[in-house]
Amino acid sequence: MKLRLASPTTFDSIVDGPGLRMVIWTQGCIHNCTGCHNPQTHSLNSGYKIDVNEIIDIIRNLKLQKGITLSGGEPFLQSEVLELIAKEAKRNKLDVWAYTGFTFEELLEPENKDHNDRIKLLNQIDVLVDGKFELSKRDISLKFRGSYNQRIIDVQRSLKENDIILKYEYMNKVLSIAK
Ligand code: SF4
Repeated sequence: MKLRLASPTTFDSIVDGPGLRMVIWTQGCIHNCTGCHNPQTHSLNSGYKIDVNEIIDIIRNLKLQKGITLSGGEPFLQSEVLELIAKEAKRNKLDVWAYTGFTFEELLEPENKDHNDRIKLLNQIDVLVDGKFELSKRDISLKFRGSYNQRIIDVQRSLKENDIILKYEYMNKVLSIAK
């Protein structure tokens, strides 16, 4: 199975979640956020394809990384293949963060044709930073997110409790607006 990437996987990131992280930059996004920093990742046909096993091998041999982060682009356009990668990360005791332009509620919508794959991927994710980047809500002092409408969500608790449970420890500002 293939994954479409925008650019090679990077390592040692400290801005895409806590600790040192491997980041997977997926290609393809449909959200068109005004002020997006990665417009080159929007085309669904650009970038390049890589066999999922190549990424899995990298994960098995990772050193000094606390976790992996799925970014892009829009990772949930490639949920099926990313679930395999996220599962491998969990097997190797790495935590999994993901960024998405969808809201958590949108990802759960049962009528979406990718619903099953999205749920399977969510089942492997620890923390989700959700929602489109909103230029009017941009704040460079925010940790791990670009605009304060975006939420940092404890995915497993949220699924279990059928509610949005925020990771307040990572939300350093404007908590009441973000909820
Ligand atoms: S979701 Fe992310 S990659 Fe997609 S347009 Fe918005 S900011 Fe850009």
